[in-house]
Amino acid sequence: MRKNIGLFGGTFNPIHLGHLRGAEEIREAFCLDEVVFIPSAIPPHKAIEEIIDAKHRLEIVRLAIASNPYFSISDIELSRAGKSYSIDTLRHFREGCADTLFFILGGDAFVEIETWKDFQNLFTLCHFIVMARPGFHKTPAASQLPGALTSPFHYDLEMRVWIHSSGHHLSFREISFLDISSTKVRELIERGESVRYLIPPETEAYIHQHGLYRKRG
Ligand code: ATP
Repeated sequence: MRKNIGLFGGTFNPIHLGHLRGAEEIREAFCLDEVVFIPSAIPPHKAIEEIIDAKHRLEIVRLAIASNPYFSISDIELSRAGKSYSIDTLRHFREGCADTLFFILGGDAFVEIETWKDFQNLFTLCHFIVMARPGFHKTPAASQLPGALTSPFHYDLEMRVWIHSSGHHLSFREISFLDISSTKVRELIERGESVRYLIPPETEAYIHQHGLYRKRG
């Protein structure tokens, strides 16, 4: 039977409870059979110096999702040489796959989507779900899309989704949106302060065991 698969990409440097709670709420709301976490190798938008080794980020995600049977991990972006582009990742998952794919991303990432490689073609490959912050429902539909996307999409008032000319949907879904960021987690660790209740305990133990995100020198 055809499955609904969520694809959730990120630097996950490190993964935190905001990512995990968001993915869980989206999984439930969209009846997803699986959410695949895809850590990126060298994200085109981020400073490389701050990003810890891919093998550690992969292990940290693996530990963080281990107790959720709906969550899995893919190392596709890490096993590919060079920068991570979502268009290549989506093509990889699309190829020879009969399942229905949903790309999941945060509102903060979506506002920059026009800077992503080949962004217009992203929407021809799968559905998109944007995790929106509380209060988003008050945003008028017309102001939800960046300028370059207004022509290939039209808004369906009944379903409250944007429909792409390819037939794929773009949905904005309000989630609890815990006010946590990887930046904040890294800063706290660097200062030797507690990150308890911001990241899963297994992840915290791994970070401490390997001395990650500590100030060097
Ligand atoms: P950094 O602070 O290093 O920029 P980040 O916390 O934003 O990192 P990323 O790995 O860059 O984490 O994010 C991966 C995806 O998760 C992005 O689509 C981002 O918008 C989304 N995201 C980030 N923080 C949250 C959060 N607290 N709740 C829900 N989604 C989030």
